[in-house]
Amino acid sequence: MQHTLNPGDILYQQGDRNDCAFLVAEGEVGLYRTDTGTTKLIDRRGAGSLVGESSIILGKERAVTAKAETACTLFRIPADRILRQFDSLDPVLSACINTTISFVEALYNSESHLVIQQGENHSEIHKVIQRLQTEHDLTVGLERGEFHVVYQPIVEVSSGQIAGFEALMRWTHPENGPMRPDHFIAIAEDISAIWNITVIAIVEACRTLRLSRDTLGRDLFASINISARDLARHDFVDFLANVLDQYDLAPDCIKLELTESALVSKNAMTETNLERLRQLGLGISVDDFGTGYSNLGHLQLLPIKTLKIDKSFADGVHASNTAKGIVRMLVALGNELNVDIVAEGIESAIDVSVLEALGCRYVQGFFFFKPMAQDDLLKALTQQAAEVA
Ligand code: C2E
Ligand code: MG
Ligand code: MG
Repeated sequence: MQHTLNPGDILYQQGDRNDCAFLVAEGEVGLYRTDTGTTKLIDRRGAGSLVGESSIILGKERAVTAKAETACTLFRIPADRILRQFDSLDPVLSACINTTISFVEALYNSESHLVIQQGENHSEIHKVIQRLQTEHDLTVGLERGEFHVVYQPIVEVSSGQIAGFEALMRWTHPENGPMRPDHFIAIAEDISAIWNITVIAIVEACRTLRLSRDTLGRDLFASINISARDLARHDFVDFLANVLDQYDLAPDCIKLELTESALVSKNAMTETNLERLRQLGLGISVDDFGTGYSNLGHLQLLPIKTLKIDKSFADGVHASNTAKGIVRMLVALGNELNVDIVAEGIESAIDVSVLEALGCRYVQGFFFFKPMAQDDLLKALTQQAAEVA
């Protein structure tokens, strides 16, 4: 990992293969470029800077010779460590880095002549273009009203009755058709468009709650997915309170679904909002519970009303003793915290009965209902009422 060099030692030569970069911990490294027989010092890298990173990112041989100018200590960073992280970068950011490095290399190159820059890695460039296109379409789609909410009923296992629903966002892209939230929520968060989506979810869910009360006399609860960025807004609680007021709904019929990571935010506005939500009587539902790293002490301080056990434990629970053990533990935790448990993503009758036996109060999953349009939700409620009567 650690290398020491004496003044004049060569770290690598121009044209060498690249398998690592180096972090200079002490001393100074000179970068020399030889073109048509002439060698020039083109840069000096001191403590805290990197050497050899550009050839790794660009996937080319060393463009310069690196030589210790003084006694140096360096740490070796393997190429795969850099590239592994690089793969998960926002493609626009990685295109920026590639282009900047190519530009700097062109400046270093004394023989450089004007060439038209072209993206070399076509699949990377294609990813960037696609991403920018989706960002554009999403912004335009919000203006054009291409987003709508579907409702997945949440069923009380003991009675089999629909007790509430989760509001799930859908985007009908004019050319590509229906888009899954997994393909647009994270992008909407990145480009600060998520609040527009959350506003649609809140207003539509409240409208549906009011409609089921007015037309069927049914008081349901609505679970609404909220992103960490929404919870950090200064106007978040006021907006919610206004919509509840507008539809004359009690705060306890709304559960805000937040993931564990969104809840552990250190943001001061988030903390203030959570306290205001508690005072208002609005509940938090912890989404995908069990998949994050909750600080249970912290959870205890929040206005949590529900834990949603993630599909990865709940669906198929009958066939796994480990999953059964985890669900049993989560139900016990729910009882201890005095909160409801919803098991998510349940697809089979056998899992429903195992979950009921384990003490799980609510189930949401394709076994009972898939996400559906508002009309279909009202029909399902009407049908249940007829069966009970
Ligand atoms: P989630 O909140 O955990 O929602 C549950 C997801 O599981 C939904 O996928 C639902 O359709 C799916 N699901 C429910 N039951 C089953 C089942 O039995 N089998 C299978 N295979 N899947 C089932 P969907 O609608 O694609 O949403 C995916 C994620 O997108 C949601 O996960 C949520 O994190 C996010 N999301 C959806 N709508 C919104 C929104 O309005 N705002 C925000 N911030 N996120 C949203
Ligand atoms: Mg959810
Ligand atoms: Mg979930």
